[in-house]
Amino acid sequence: MKYESSRGKYHSVTAAEAIKMGISPDGGLFVPESIPHLDDKQLTAMASSSYQEKAFHIIRQFLSDFSDDEIKSCINGAYNQKSFDNERIAPLVKLDTGVYIQELWHGPTAAFKDMALQMLPHLLTISAHKTGEKAEIVILVATSGDTGKAALEGFKDVEGTKIIVFYPDEGVSEIQKRQMLTQEGNNVYVAAVSGNFDDAQNGVKRIFANEEFAARLLQNGQKLSSANSINWGRLLPQIVYYVAAYLDLKAAGIVEEAQSVNIVVPTGNFGNILAAYYASRMGIPIKRLICASNANNILTDFIHSGIYDRQRKFEKTISPSMDILISSNLERLLFEVTGHNASRVAAWMEDLKDRGRYEVDAVTRDAVQDIFWADFCSDEETLTAIRQTWREHSYLLDTHTAVAVNVYQKYRSETGDNTISIIASTASPFKFANSVAQAVLEPELLQGKDEFELMNLLSQYTGIAIPVGLKELDRREIRHHSVCSQQGMEEMVMSFLQLV
Ligand SMILES: *Cc1c(COP(=O)(O)O)cnc(C)c1O
Repeated sequence: MKYESSRGKYHSVTAAEAIKMGISPDGGLFVPESIPHLDDKQLTAMASSSYQEKAFHIIRQFLSDFSDDEIKSCINGAYNQKSFDNERIAPLVKLDTGVYIQELWHGPTAAFKDMALQMLPHLLTISAHKTGEKAEIVILVATSGDTGKAALEGFKDVEGTKIIVFYPDEGVSEIQKRQMLTQEGNNVYVAAVSGNFDDAQNGVKRIFANEEFAARLLQNGQKLSSANSINWGRLLPQIVYYVAAYLDLKAAGIVEEAQSVNIVVPTGNFGNILAAYYASRMGIPIKRLICASNANNILTDFIHSGIYDRQRKFEKTISPSMDILISSNLERLLFEVTGHNASRVAAWMEDLKDRGRYEVDAVTRDAVQDIFWADFCSDEETLTAIRQTWREHSYLLDTHTAVAVNVYQKYRSETGDNTISIIASTASPFKFANSVAQAVLEPELLQGKDEFELMNLLSQYTGIAIPVGLKELDRREIRHHSVCSQQGMEEMVMSFLQLV
């Protein structure tokens, strides 16, 4: 299995090279040259196996340059009882007749980013080794919340790596901040950057673009790399849980041979829902992929019209991990639905860069609409979805999953489609305790309480246990104290790496 760039200049790249490079040098994203097919016999054989065995069977088809032992060590390093608090890893829970929630947040940081970031460090270190890389890998991350903590947990104490996370002083929640500041591990560094997420992100981009800096690092035996979601090594582990969800329904006799399901995904960067698309291309019968957005509804507009226009206001919502205007992974979908037409994809991405918008042709738009359905949800509707779901089903949703539930309701009432549906749940409700408490508790109970107190209150009221990774967060030792300005980020990296 080889990989190629979605912008056409790179072909026949091994999986190890694609994962090590992260992004293709022509600016494109690495995509498998063909998609392996799981036939009925293979699906039946997998149906009764463990999550780890399913992962092995699926992942090895994409990593033909990895040995079976290497793949197993990646899987066992990621999905084990030390890191996940549910032995089924990504369990399905019945919400209503024909509606299932897939909980993707049983990893160490209580958000779905763990599903990929628990595995990426293992994929990356093996890839580096395979491609003859001698340098130590220094992962540099700017985070608006969930990614930073999940990357820290994934890379902590992984040999041959260091990880440095910058978060915007004004841009993350109290819980997210505390999760990062209490991070343990002997190769982890965290610093607050004064400003917002863009400031932190621009600072990181500047460091990546600084060749002099790279040369200096290399002299020190180190190389910068990124853990962001355009890396194929982050997408691949996500395909597994969609196949697993379908097989779980099949094993339970809820779906029959070749019966289709819908999958509903709260979407930001388009990574998670794209993994579901790949699962469908591998042979999982999926009728509709339902793309749920918050007020940043650029993807809803795109799926309806074929026009992607980023010239709009950025909205701050209560589902912050979906507050995004550039959904990078959409490029991979366009490459797939145009039959790998790299020159067309490159032209659209050029338009996006130069003019802030692009418009795909009618054939491409129709091909997208053949499988995708999209809508969006306001903050008010998000809170209502949390409240109603708690009242009617005693199931507590986080704000992101609530967006998906609301959009799924809209889908049902507009189409009347009763197909069995799986809703991807991307975070524990306790991770966004402020908004969830506001939705389900009486207003007088909330007064004067901070986010940690609300988390405890929510747990007492609902009888649901707080995930280990979030429990007593406010009592853990703060281990990171660094603060810098955007201009000071480079110096901060040097001091972390003891280059000064
Ligand atoms: C990252 C994230 C999302 C969005 O996922 P994409 O792959 O970027 O579309 C949704 N919900 C939560 C909780 C997240 O952390």
